[in-house]
Parts: sequence; structure tokens; C-alpha cells
Amino acid sequence: MNRDTSRDLYDRALGVLPGGVNSSVRAAPQPYPTFVQKGDAGRVIDADGNKYVDWVMGLGPLLLGHDTPETVQSAVQKRTSEGPMYGMPTEVEIEHAEFIARHVPSVEMVRFVNSGTEATVSAVRLARGYTGREKVVVMQGGYHGAQESTLVEGDGDGTTPSSPGIPASFAEHTLTVPFNDEEAITEVFEEHGDEIAAVLVEPILANKGIVEPREGYHETLRDLTADHGALLVFDEVITGFRVGGLSCAQGKYGITPDLTTFGKVIGGGFPIGAIGGRTEIMEELTPAGDVFQAGTFSGHPVTMAAGLETLTYAAENDVYEHMNDLAEQLRDGLRDVVAERAPEYSVVGTDSLFKVVFTRDGEAPRNGADVGRANVQRWNRVFRPQMLENGVMLSQNQFESQFVSYAHTAADVEETIEAY
Ligand code: PLP
Repeated sequence: MNRDTSRDLYDRALGVLPGGVNSSVRAAPQPYPTFVQKGDAGRVIDADGNKYVDWVMGLGPLLLGHDTPETVQSAVQKRTSEGPMYGMPTEVEIEHAEFIARHVPSVEMVRFVNSGTEATVSAVRLARGYTGREKVVVMQGGYHGAQESTLVEGDGDGTTPSSPGIPASFAEHTLTVPFNDEEAITEVFEEHGDEIAAVLVEPILANKGIVEPREGYHETLRDLTADHGALLVFDEVITGFRVGGLSCAQGKYGITPDLTTFGKVIGGGFPIGAIGGRTEIMEELTPAGDVFQAGTFSGHPVTMAAGLETLTYAAENDVYEHMNDLAEQLRDGLRDVVAERAPEYSVVGTDSLFKVVFTRDGEAPRNGADVGRANVQRWNRVFRPQMLENGVMLSQNQFESQFVSYAHTAADVEETIEAY
């Protein structure tokens, strides 16, 4: 069979996909992007037959790796004859919502959507509808999807995902504060307390560094929002059903948010997002409520089946333990190599997330700190290509997390450490 090589595919892609890739993230550190032909557990094989240990895992959704267990595959097979059911729930959608509600104590009701972006847009709209207020507080270096209501104005050096020319009306209603800075957010509440609909925050800032909250920070957010009648919205699109195990980061930090957004792993590899929270708030989404929210593909039976079966499998097996153990071995191993060979890097992470970041001062970036254009370029032009050459696939941008999946093995970890 005469197969297209990556070079041929790139030429075709450039004609129909902006930049030749399916993201705005600059690919092409190597001459052209990697065209994956086939997944194989924790690895991928490209169009030229090269095999890589894959730590991108689709940027997170592939909790169980590329080859999903038989139970997930047969659950999906059973649903492929059903299309989306606009305005009509299916039993599998109810079951999926019940699963989330059972495992996340703050969630009583769930609305499924189709991406993490849609989930956070909807959560912001819901918070605005529920409180009758407009302002939303977000964290510097936080990320909630490609949408204007929470995307910050970038610094133009490619280190912050941004939307040029955010309309003044959006910018005015989005207040940005540094993560982990209690003073800054307290001041914002002192000045705007009665105008703030919500604080939207990732429990762990996963998109610049992997920055964990300082002790007491989430409690401060909880107290400030409660005292001022604003909602606390945890964006768990990355962390949900991954970090902190089944009850997600709420389990890790012991904070009860008003609303939570989910995405990635809860779709079992298919497109998904979800908003969950207390009945009183979620009922704003009913015909009697103030907030319109609907989507053609929401609650698609195939996605529901894949997601529910994946989460059930994870609940019944040692999925999180395995991933967290491997990630710890990987982080420890990488820290040793990095300390010896490249002290300008730092290895950060928690649970099954990890990242190798460039730092200016030998410390991991904090508060979503900007690590500089030169370092981004270095990642794109030197570091990532070198790793690819050595058979390890990392995210296309140094800010993006790397994900350990259940399919990864000790051999994947060893090869990656050797590749550095
Ligand atoms: N929120 C967070 C915390 C994310 O990390 C992401 C994506 O990585 C999103 C929202 C957007 O999700 P999606 O890419 O599914 O639209």
C-alpha cells in the first residue's frame, strides 16, 4: 500500500487546516507536525512508522490510554445507531449525571455540553443569571477555553493564550488577579464586591506551571464569595476525575464550590463538557429559570456511554493509584536528570500531571508567571524536537500539561528519563 508520509500529509493539511494543525498552538518545532496513524496503549505511531511514548494523551481526555478496555468499546458500539437527542434525555445520560453527582459532593445536578470551553461559558452565564451581576474574577495565567468572557488580553509574546481586541464590554466585566495572592483578591472584593457574579478558578493552575494553591487560598476564595453573594466556580476541566481521584480536586482541597465545570476524561475520549452544582442554582437552566442553555449535541449517547463506562472502570480498578505512582516515579527520575544536566529546567506536577518548565531563577513558575518568549521558542525549536527524536512525545507548548494515563508502563517512564 502506498501510504502518505508525514511530509505529504503536511502539504495537504496546509491547504485546508489553518497552520496545518487543529489548534492555534504553534506546532512545527520539527519541520512538520506529527501525524498520528495509530494509538497503542501509552504510545502512538506516526505516518512514517515512528513510535513515541505519548505524554500528551489528547491533552488529557484519554484517561485509560489509546486502547480502551473492552467494556468501554462495547458500551460505545451499542450506541452508535443512536444520534443526538436534542431536548430529550437518554437513560445513559441520566446514569452519567448520577455517577458524577454520587462522586462529587457539591454536585446535585448536571448539564452536559460539548467541550470545556462551552462548560465555562455556560457556567459564567449561569452565575450571571443566578446573581443578577456581571463581573467575573479570573486568575492571571488561568485558562478556561477559547472564549472571550474569560480569556485575558495577551502580552503578545506568545506566552499567554489571548484574544486580540477583546471587546471593551467583556474586558470591563472580567477582573484578573494573580493566583495565590490573597491580598489582591480581597482588594478586588472590597472595590467591586456587590458587582461580582463569580470567581472562576482552576483548583490547580494547570496551564502555566502546574501551580497548586497555597494553604488557605481556596478557603479565602470560598469566604470572600460567600460573604459577598458571589458564586465560587471551580473549573475542573483538567483536574476533574483525574486529580484527587474520583471526587476530583474538591476531595484534595476540601472546598465546596457552588458550581463545577468538567470536560476531558468524563467523555471517555469523545467531546464533552459539563456544569454541575446545587439544584437551586442549576434550576436557572430550566424553562422556569432565567438562563437559556442548549446544544445540539449535548448528552450525545455515544459520549455518555464512553464517559460513564470509562469513569466506572476507573472507579472499579486501581487506575488513579497506578497513574499517580508512575507520575511520581517519572517526576523523581526527571528531577535527577534535570538537576544534573539542565538546571535551567524545573519539573513540576501533582497526581498524574507533570510538566518540565524553563525557569529564570531555577524555581518553578508561581502565580502563572510569564516564563518568557525565548524559553517558549527554545521549547519549540530545541527541546521538544530533541525529545521526539528520542521517541518521546510532549505537548506542543511548554505551558500545556503532560498527562500520565492508566495505559502507561514503567518502561514508558524509564525510556522517557533516558531520553532526556
Ligand atoms: N478549562 C480548563 C481548565 C482547561 O484546561 C481547558 C482546556 O484545556 C478548557 C477549559 C477548555 O476545554 P476545551 O478545550 O475542551 O474546550
